[in-house]
Amino acid sequence: MKITDVEAIPVSVPIPKERQNALGIGKLTKRDAVFVKVTTAGGLIGWGEAHHGRNPGAVASIINNSLKGMVVGQDASNVAGIWSRLYQAQVASHGMGAGSVIAISGIDMALWDIRGKATGWPIYKLLGGASKPILAYAGGGGSLGFGKTEALLDECRGLIAMGFKALKLRIGQAPAIDLARIEAVRKTFGDDVMLMTDANAACSLEDVRQLMPGLDALNVRWLEEPFPGSDQRSYAAAARFGRTPLALGENAYTRYEFREYLERGDIAVLQPDVGKTGGFTEIMRIAAMASGWRVPIHPHGGVTGLDLAAGIHVLAAIDNAGYFESSEGLNPLRELPFASKPYELDKDGCVRPLEAPGLGLDVDEAFLRFHPVIEGPGFV
Ligand SMILES: [Mg+2]
Repeated sequence: MKITDVEAIPVSVPIPKERQNALGIGKLTKRDAVFVKVTTAGGLIGWGEAHHGRNPGAVASIINNSLKGMVVGQDASNVAGIWSRLYQAQVASHGMGAGSVIAISGIDMALWDIRGKATGWPIYKLLGGASKPILAYAGGGGSLGFGKTEALLDECRGLIAMGFKALKLRIGQAPAIDLARIEAVRKTFGDDVMLMTDANAACSLEDVRQLMPGLDALNVRWLEEPFPGSDQRSYAAAARFGRTPLALGENAYTRYEFREYLERGDIAVLQPDVGKTGGFTEIMRIAAMASGWRVPIHPHGGVTGLDLAAGIHVLAAIDNAGYFESSEGLNPLRELPFASKPYELDKDGCVRPLEAPGLGLDVDEAFLRFHPVIEGPGFV
């Protein structure tokens, strides 16, 4: 189980112009991802995904140039020890904060993939979970964005036809436009479809004051990231504007940041991402801590099948599991780099964790080498 190599492989796939969706964070022009490959002396290979962080080359560089030297030579089974070693050396002092936690996340995910392959168990079983149906909602990066209402209704229609019972709409344009769009979806598809909203931190406090009565009336399940997570005063104020729960967490790193959100008490839905917040090791700590506060975990869905499969493994193993955020819209990195799909939607709109050892996916390394990183942000 001695680790002989660690390599981060940043990849990019351009999105054709006619398929580029606009969100609060810009227009999606390419899909980026950072694959992390960890090799052991015994020949086991683990794969993980570190979120691209809007700069896949930089995330890969932290792994290949800063962290690799602290991981090679270690025992791959010592996952918590490696986590602490990297955190202490890279994050606790001098170390590029969020970028480094993202980098650790990819390595940790790959180490859990190795644990699974070494034991023959899928990760959800290693974590103490059981296979069960988990409600999925459509809305991962690039889907259900801004634009003409008719086009949005068509997109919703297609997703509902696929089996989805829950949809997450992008908001943050302007309160009146946002509410008109949500209302059109609610009126067209009725009360049985669960609707969430995600503003990608694009709202002002005044926007949310105007939005909240409408979100309450339209029975919106949550309002995600109206503001940056650090804007504590706006969250505290917005929580008093209405009943719709406030959600965040895809841009929060390690249990230390989540502890603060729990202590604040104004966030009702936490959304850590396995590939961002510190890997399986850390998200399980976050979930256990949130369980003590009776707050559910709805993992943010990453880009590739690795992070998506990872989120389902977590959901199958925690007692405060929420829903799975699927990745719809055009996302070639969800399935193309793998021999099989990261998830299948059943007729009830649910998914189950993969059963093959580890994460449960075989990575096509030739695909990765064939799609080298295109530097620059994917949302412009
Ligand atoms: Mg979001």
